[in-house]
Amino acid sequence: MSVLVFIEISEGAIKKSSLEAVSFAAGFDSNVTAIAFGEASADSLKIAGKAGASKVLHVGDTKYNDGNIQAYASAIAKAADSIAADTVVLANSSLGDPVAARLSIKMNASLTSNVIELPDTSNGFVVKRSIYTGKAFAQVNLTEGKRIIGIKKNATTIKEDGADASVEAFSAEDSTDDFKVKILSKEKATGDVLLPEADIVVSGGRGLKGPENWGMIEDLAKTLGAATACSKPVSDMDWRPHHEHVGQTGIKVAPSLYIAVGISGAIQHLAGVNSSKCIVVINKDEEAPFFKAADYGIVGDAFEVVPKLTEAIKAING
Ligand SMILES: Cc1cc2nc3c(=O)[nH]c(=O)nc-3n(C[C@H](O)[C@H](O)[C@H](O)COP(=O)(O)OP(=O)(O)OC[C@H]3O[C@@H](n4cnc5c(N)ncnc54)[C@H](O)[C@@H]3O)c2cc1C
Repeated sequence: MSVLVFIEISEGAIKKSSLEAVSFAAGFDSNVTAIAFGEASADSLKIAGKAGASKVLHVGDTKYNDGNIQAYASAIAKAADSIAADTVVLANSSLGDPVAARLSIKMNASLTSNVIELPDTSNGFVVKRSIYTGKAFAQVNLTEGKRIIGIKKNATTIKEDGADASVEAFSAEDSTDDFKVKILSKEKATGDVLLPEADIVVSGGRGLKGPENWGMIEDLAKTLGAATACSKPVSDMDWRPHHEHVGQTGIKVAPSLYIAVGISGAIQHLAGVNSSKCIVVINKDEEAPFFKAADYGIVGDAFEVVPKLTEAIKAING
C-alpha cells in the first residue's frame, strides 16, 4: 500500500500548501507518490522529492492547465488505483476541497478535512482536525479501507531533506464527460504579490478611517514584499477592492506573517486568517478582541506606529 498526494501547480511551481501535504504524507508512510497536472517542468516537479515523495506522476496535457475539478478527480482515482494507494492526501484549498469531494465518491473512500496532526494508527486511523473555524478540535477515525485527508494550511512544516523525485508521464485516459465545463477566460488579480499565495500579508480595517490613508499600508507591504488585504466593511465601503477582503465571506489566507492594522478581530474576520503562522496586531484599543488571537500586539495609533515600523524595517534592510 502507498500514499498518493495531489500537488497543485501555480505559475509553474508546486504550491507551498502542496509541499506541506507531501511532507505530512511522508510523516506517516515511507512510500509517497505525488500527482501533478498541466504545464510544469520536470525540474519544478522533482522538488516534491525534497518534501518526501519518491515519484511524481505528471498529467502534462495542456487541457489540464485550468484546474478542471472533475477531470482531476478522475485522473487521481485512476492513479491511486494504479499504485494501489489506500490514502490520498491533499491541501485544503479552493481547488483541493472540491476535488476531494468528487474523489471520495469515485474511490468510495472516507474523507476528512482541516487535518492538523499526523494520524494515530495504534487503533484504527485517527486524525485530529480543526473545526468551527479553529475554535475547537475533533478526533476522527477513518474507518473505510480507503481514505482522503485534507491538510489545513500551515499545519505542518515542509521537509527539505529528501532526494529529488523521479518524474513520470501519466496518462489519465480522460473521458469527454470530464471536460463538459470549459473555462472560457481567466482574469488575474493584479498586484506585485497575489493575496492567496502571499507569505506575508499586511491588512487594514475600519480603524484607518478612509481609503486616502492606505498609502502607509502599501508602503509597509512593499517594504516587506507582502500582499495587502482588508476587513469586509472596508471593501463594502469601496475603500479597497473586494478581492482584498479576507475572512469568513472573503479570501482565506495562511501566510507566515499576518499584520492586522486597525482591525477589531471579529470572529468572521478571524475565520479567514487564523491559520496564519504569526499574527501581529496593531490597534489603539487594548481591549480589541484581535489581541487574544495575536502572537505579538502593539497598542497604539496606527498613524504613528505603521510609518515608524516601516522606517525601522527599511533601516534593517539597508
Ligand atoms: C455573516 C457575516 C460575515 C462576515 N464576514 C466577514 C469577513 O469575511 N471578513 C471581515 O473582516 N468581516 C466580516 N464580517 C464583519 C465582521 O463581523 C466585522 O464587522 C468586521 O470584521 C469589522 O471590521 P473592522 O475590524 O475593520 O472594523 P471595526 O469593527 O470598526 O474595528 C475597527 C478597529 O480599529 C481600531 N482603531 C480605530 N482607530 C484606530 C487607530 N487610529 N489606530 C489603530 N487602531 C484603530 C478600533 O479600536 C477597532 O478595533 C462579517 C459579518 C457577518 C455578519
